Amino acid sequence: MRNLLPFLVLIAVASAFGNIQTQFDGPDEVELRLLEPAVVPDPVDGVSRWWYTPSRKAHIYRHKYPKNIQAQPRQGEDLRLPGDVLPRLYNVRLLPFIEVGNWTTDGYVEIFLDCIISTVNISMNSLDLTIDPASITVTEEQTGNPISVVDFIDEQSTREIITIQVSRPLTAGKQYKITMKFISILNALLAGFYRSSYVENGVTKYLAVTQFEATDARRSFPCFDEPTMKANFTVTVGRKETWTSVSNMPLITTEPIVGMPGFVWDNYQTSVTMSSYLVAFMVSEFIGIPAEPGLSNVEFSIWARPEARNLTDYARNIGPRILEFFESYYNIDYPLPKQDMAAIPDFAAGAMENWGLITYREEYLLIDPNRATARAVQLAAVVSAHELAHQWFGNLVTMDWWNALWLNEGFASYMEYIGTDAVEPDFKMNDQFIIENLQYVFGIDALETSRPINIEVNTPAEINSMFDAISYEKGSCVIRMCADIIGLETFQRGLTRYLSDNAYGNAGQDNLWAALQTQADSENVILPATVKEIMDTWTFKMGFPYVTVNRNYQTGGAVVIQNRFLLRKSNDTTDPTVYQWWLPLTYTSDYTQTKRRDWLSVDEFSKSLPNLGAAANQWVIFNVDQQNYYRVAYDPTNYGLIRDQLIADHQRVSANNRAQLLDDAFNLALTELIPYADALDLTLYLKYEREYVPWHAVLSELNYVDIMLYNFAEFSNWKTHMTSLVEPYYNFIGFQETQSDPHLTKYCRIDAMNWACRLGVADCVQNSLSTYATLMSQPDNLAQIVSPNEKSTILRTAIEYGGQAEYDFAFNQYKTKSDTSFLVAMCASKQATVLSGLLEMLLDPTSGILRLDVNTVFNNVANNPIGNEIALDFLINRWDDIQNALGSVYFATWYRYVCTRQNTQAGLDKLIQLRDAHSVILGNSNSVKQGIQTVESNIQWVSLNLGEIGTWLAGNQPAKTISNVIRH
Ligand SMILES: [Zn+2]
Repeated sequence: MRNLLPFLVLIAVASAFGNIQTQFDGPDEVELRLLEPAVVPDPVDGVSRWWYTPSRKAHIYRHKYPKNIQAQPRQGEDLRLPGDVLPRLYNVRLLPFIEVGNWTTDGYVEIFLDCIISTVNISMNSLDLTIDPASITVTEEQTGNPISVVDFIDEQSTREIITIQVSRPLTAGKQYKITMKFISILNALLAGFYRSSYVENGVTKYLAVTQFEATDARRSFPCFDEPTMKANFTVTVGRKETWTSVSNMPLITTEPIVGMPGFVWDNYQTSVTMSSYLVAFMVSEFIGIPAEPGLSNVEFSIWARPEARNLTDYARNIGPRILEFFESYYNIDYPLPKQDMAAIPDFAAGAMENWGLITYREEYLLIDPNRATARAVQLAAVVSAHELAHQWFGNLVTMDWWNALWLNEGFASYMEYIGTDAVEPDFKMNDQFIIENLQYVFGIDALETSRPINIEVNTPAEINSMFDAISYEKGSCVIRMCADIIGLETFQRGLTRYLSDNAYGNAGQDNLWAALQTQADSENVILPATVKEIMDTWTFKMGFPYVTVNRNYQTGGAVVIQNRFLLRKSNDTTDPTVYQWWLPLTYTSDYTQTKRRDWLSVDEFSKSLPNLGAAANQWVIFNVDQQNYYRVAYDPTNYGLIRDQLIADHQRVSANNRAQLLDDAFNLALTELIPYADALDLTLYLKYEREYVPWHAVLSELNYVDIMLYNFAEFSNWKTHMTSLVEPYYNFIGFQETQSDPHLTKYCRIDAMNWACRLGVADCVQNSLSTYATLMSQPDNLAQIVSPNEKSTILRTAIEYGGQAEYDFAFNQYKTKSDTSFLVAMCASKQATVLSGLLEMLLDPTSGILRLDVNTVFNNVANNPIGNEIALDFLINRWDDIQNALGSVYFATWYRYVCTRQNTQAGLDKLIQLRDAHSVILGNSNSVKQGIQTVESNIQWVSLNLGEIGTWLAGNQPAKTISNVIRH
């Protein structure tokens, strides 16, 4: 499964449960990059475990929420199946009625069982099914003799289990067949066999589709719903003659349903051996469009609503090519005769790897080349690569229980980079890994509330909570580190060994380590401990270390120390874990040479390295290309040497390490482990930096400093400093996007324009205004005039620097075209009266701002440096009016939004007063607690760092520093 932007999930969850959808709408992604993305809305806060730090990466909101928020953990109950009987084959026959007023599905299942341990109780999973007890039969397969059923115990509502009790014990070693009829409801929960809808030519159309992972196959038919209980599945689904169906395997025959004119049965080929969570089928009016011929030897089609036919070209091209690539990478053929990919209008996850029938959110499969942003195209490729990687990792070899979900998801999140890179080398995915996955998950894994990758889970709610950044992103980082330790090619051959040895079965992480060990041994790879010993420290301990490198410039050696990196420490921790790891040290002073290697063992807090191979005037950089999962802190002299090298010729240091140095330094400064001066020194070279990855890594860190300084006198020097860095970058990239721009150049431009316009760089502002003026004269040519990549910045800048006419045009576009990006732009106004006016409009249902968008407006005004105080005062002074107009659902969330930029004691006092004045609504809210913590951290940051940063800025104004440096 691919995880998803949480606000999208929240919308899905909210609408699925009939909650108020408007609570969870989010501004568009580009806009969020400017904002504090870490707000967790209150009503579903019970399922979120993270507390985000304010400076974290913009895409931190990708955290996946458990989709089944109603399921409460039921600790202590036995929710596992006993394993005394195991399924071998299912014949499942389902006839869904897909129409308003009748969402029932008539179901019938035959399950062929092997008896492992003699028993009179046959227990299996079932949830929300109406089972006809009279229809249940049990037969001994060999003799055909029926065995009478004496009882049917229905524990669906508690244990999600039904038990059929028979008159005499089943015998170990014998085979049995069970049949039963049942009725299920096509639910609106986006789980099990559920209903989805879309509008075509003004008419609402419905379809029925499955989402079974993790534990929802049991909502569709009674089954042994655990990943090790693999079986073959023969699926038969009924449909209207004029509709279509599709399932994991190819269709064999279609036949009329007797007694139901106009309906037919579709009979599908029996599946390969697989886990129940991978079964899938869909009944709809969709069309199947074959992929481009010749790209793969597997029959490959894209399924979508007919109107979306022309949005399938991208998927039809890359899908089969990625599949071909993985066949050669894994060195194992794709095991099924066909692969379908379907775009589902309502979908809880990002995508789901059902074997042979991958399902997607529409936006990840259907791409409009004229309107899609570069990021949307990349995401589509990445999600496809993720799901196709699962066809081997997850489907062919499945984790033996959900505690090891990371084996599925960490691998798919690693392979999605390799698979995408194979078909879109221009995306430079391997360069992007460290900002997309590694530095992103550092922000989560640096909290005491993180978790180890591999933890015990039992209940469905616990299992669903595993679909998070630790399984996905941290899992992928740990795998990438392992590959670096044993060598990429050895690693790849080890994977083939693991997949071949465990094909059609299940495996735990020990099986993976064993396969990699065997491969490493056979290729004489020397390690200081076994692969298992090394990797267990990374999978069973939460968090990650930072390595302190203290060089001895006389001897040429260094002392290296490992400590856990924490963004903040609580005083009352009772955690007895020793946070040390098997830590692969890699370092270099010259990227043209092979990197040097050493180790800190799990028992070593510190260690002396006698010889780094660097002269006293030569820099040393550890964690080469950030292949490993730790941060590095240096002594001041080494920081100085690195700074000088970057200024003299930054290309002597790899782009990954430049990004790492910046990200590490600002996070180490944030946690008081190094002075801010050392981090800021590293920014001086940025006026020469032209690459996306280092820039993107540092901008999200600088954003926090920018927010904190805004209301202080130091901001003026800060703005000058930032302009001196950003302007050359912007000038190099240029305002105008062209067709031939490489992918990452488009990404560069998004960042460079965003900051250049924000800093008031004249060329950026003028170009934005004139582009907007063109748009005002031809409002129907938006797609031709404004690149989707630049849209957010151009609209925002036009409002910020334009006048009433620009504002009025934006409001008109929002109202007539329902384009929320114009509304978001309106919130960027620099005029206090405009911003107050916008907030007032939220209280007036006739103002033209849709109820759906009020949260977006408040969030964006609160994040506008001028609007922040206005938003706080609005909340304080207009409380009753807000309550009368909108109810009380927004209060806690809006309170949190306001906190992000607050960093003074006066502000905190106001916020606490507000909380206490409305303690019934705000008193127990997690969002409010997070908000106050944020403000307290901000105030502390200001008191610790404002003076130091101010002094540094005063001493490093552009004219006085590096203008005369000679470039090599
Ligand atoms: Zn996945």
